[in-house]
Amino acid sequence: MSKGARIVLLGRQGSGKGTQCVRLSRHYVVPHISTGDMLRAAVRENSLLGRSVVDVLGSGGLVGDEVIIVLVRERLGKADARRRGFLLDGFPRTVAQAEALDDIADGSPLNAVIDLVVPREVVLERLSARRVCRDCGANYHAGPVVPSPWTCDTCGGDVVQREDDTPESINRRLDLYESQTAPLIEYYGASNRLFPVDGVGSPDQVFERLTTVIDSR
Ligand code: ADP
Repeated sequence: MSKGARIVLLGRQGSGKGTQCVRLSRHYVVPHISTGDMLRAAVRENSLLGRSVVDVLGSGGLVGDEVIIVLVRERLGKADARRRGFLLDGFPRTVAQAEALDDIADGSPLNAVIDLVVPREVVLERLSARRVCRDCGANYHAGPVVPSPWTCDTCGGDVVQREDDTPESINRRLDLYESQTAPLIEYYGASNRLFPVDGVGSPDQVFERLTTVIDSR
């Protein structure tokens, strides 16, 4: 890997990190790399990878580190990421993945690891109202009146509720976040690479906070 911005956005499910990543990737013109989107695409394509992860995704568990690390290593090796850098969304999620990322990024260290902080009570409400574009992954918030059919403003794809946004799966994913992903905060904090950003507020306010931190790097 060589030039460009290399940014990792950490944050609980429903912290708004997906939406902010879409916007940040346009703002900084860096590829938005979401492991969740990549895995869901593999499931849609019914590829070997897709078939091997479909059950884990549906139940809200975590895909094995080896599988996900190979996927990310391959993606970060592509020309756009090598040239322009990357904005990682949903990776790393375990300390083993963070160590692998340091290895992959060897020689071009990360510019910033941002922790988008939103309390659990707030994300529970947001997740049950979350809808996503099946094609480009854009996130939407369902109000009291849900358009049917609902098409994406960005690409015209179908806007749907994710199959893993059921209350059981949401709670399981949040528990997993606490146990597996929270240690990352310590991992990056120990090497002074962690920047906590308050994720409660309007999308514009949060975006402004994020760009202020990133620009300072
Ligand atoms: P969320 O953050 O709402 O759980 P994502 O779109 O980031 O959603 O991920 C969806 C699912 O894909 C996760 O629940 C998990 O099963 C799998 N997944 C995504 N990224 C990773 C990762 N880095 N490690 C392991 N599993 C992952």
